[in-house]
Amino acid sequence: MADCYICGKKDISKNEIGLTAKLMGQKFKKSYCLFCLAEQLEVTEEELLDKIEEFKNEGCKLFE
Ligand SMILES: [Zn+2]
Repeated sequence: MADCYICGKKDISKNEIGLTAKLMGQKFKKSYCLFCLAEQLEVTEEELLDKIEEFKNEGCKLFE
């Protein structure tokens, strides 16, 4: 299980890990929680949740 690289939040979800990989690139080895990822990308958590739904609808295996 992964922790958020920035705030240290424990056991972030598969969706958070998947979204970090999708938005920061597959080579990006760190994982961010939803809150920190939103801060980094200067978007809202709601927008990120919409993104997760989009990727899920595409059948992306990184999400549950
Ligand atoms: Zn965090």
